[in-house]
Amino acid sequence: MPLSTKTEVMSTLLLAAGLTVAAHAAETPALTKSDLAAATTLRSTTESSGEAYAVLESLTTEVGARLAGSAGDRAAVAWAERELKRLGLANVRTQEVMVPQWVRGEIEARVTAPFPQALAAAALGGSVGTAETGIEAEVVQFTSLEDLKKATREQVAGRIVFVNKRLERAKDGRGYGVAVPVRLEGASVASNLGAQAIVIRSMSTSQWRLPHTGTVSYAVGVPRIPAVAVSNPDADQLERMFARNRPVRLQLRVTARELPMTKSANVIGEIVGGEKPQEVVVLGAHLDSWDLGTGAIDDGAGVAIVSAAVAQIQKSGLKPKRTIRVVLFANEEFGLSGGSAYGKQTPEELANHVVAMEADFGGARVYSLGSQVAPEHLPAVREIARALAPLGVEFDDRNKSGGGADISPLRRQGVPVFALNQDGTLYFDYHHTANDTLDKVDPKALAQSTAAYAVTAWLAAQAEGGFGRLAPPQ
Ligand SMILES: [Zn+2]
Repeated sequence: MPLSTKTEVMSTLLLAAGLTVAAHAAETPALTKSDLAAATTLRSTTESSGEAYAVLESLTTEVGARLAGSAGDRAAVAWAERELKRLGLANVRTQEVMVPQWVRGEIEARVTAPFPQALAAAALGGSVGTAETGIEAEVVQFTSLEDLKKATREQVAGRIVFVNKRLERAKDGRGYGVAVPVRLEGASVASNLGAQAIVIRSMSTSQWRLPHTGTVSYAVGVPRIPAVAVSNPDADQLERMFARNRPVRLQLRVTARELPMTKSANVIGEIVGGEKPQEVVVLGAHLDSWDLGTGAIDDGAGVAIVSAAVAQIQKSGLKPKRTIRVVLFANEEFGLSGGSAYGKQTPEELANHVVAMEADFGGARVYSLGSQVAPEHLPAVREIARALAPLGVEFDDRNKSGGGADISPLRRQGVPVFALNQDGTLYFDYHHTANDTLDKVDPKALAQSTAAYAVTAWLAAQAEGGFGRLAPPQ
């Protein structure tokens, strides 16, 4: 048949198929009118509530920084148990988790040539220290990890490597995924080439003179070298020195060190489901933070959002069919200890996890709902997205969302995930720095995010038929 006719027939077929799906969804919606009416009320009461901000104010003021394994971390676990009880959640409990313990110590970073001066630097999390007296060596600059990987031993051996890779600003934070391998892998790549240490441009979008920390991931069997980040303005300064084509030399003294593994805990609380208590909707966030700030946006905001969201459902007097569970994960930053521990459940328990979602992208507004559910259940997610539309939340129907780090062990074992995507335009200005403090969080935006989580959790607990299972990852 002629192409135009063929196209017409195909579009008619597609239209018919679309109508069939629509008609089917119209016949059998996953949510009842009364569930949706309750969602409308929940949305407005949560959006006008200051509860999430109060939770965040309490955590950042009364606990502050809470690096895994530190005294702050222990205080955070005790705080979370008290707070979830205060918020009215049931079955508040801890799940013991072993976590690494790392001490930052002190750092001195100085240019010794060609223009002697101090730099603002921070050791990367997990970095080994230098010798007590420090090290001094010529610096060799690379613009990316790929660039460094192509270097020869002759270029690098005995020197300090500087990787000058800039993180690009984006609403969805995609620049981080592009740049962060420098921080994770750079030290081992440089060490394999005989480097004495690595200095990286901070994984940061800000021009403040504040270095960003974050984990370094040492490869097994490769000698560990000190790994530090300099702030963006200091990286610019080094870049200008290199542009003068004169040898640049640095002196580094880092007293960071590792201590034995120690105990921490996931803190869990819930609203027990009325009809299907064994079926669980999980809302996660991580309780630990880096040590430089007070962990307000990373991830105090997430802790506040999920705790207050579930508390609002409870306060509204709603009786969900399924259990809605808050999990405040231990040690996300230093290797996902809490997420991995929570993911170690029996196949039966995992099968009862209907869906999981995680808040770990600051306190800014949610702008879209994405998911990864069994495709035949996508219409149910669309119904939830419609209930979020008055909050300015769009539906991302690609069904390819990852959901977040702490719930990735669940996702890999077939548990569907939702992603309430928050505006990350400013997120990498603050995260992992001394500037990650309460004043960076807008209470109105935090309340909007909390409302989005509350509505999504409530409707997920009510949705007829759940969201299926995910196929094992390829
Ligand atoms: Zn985080």
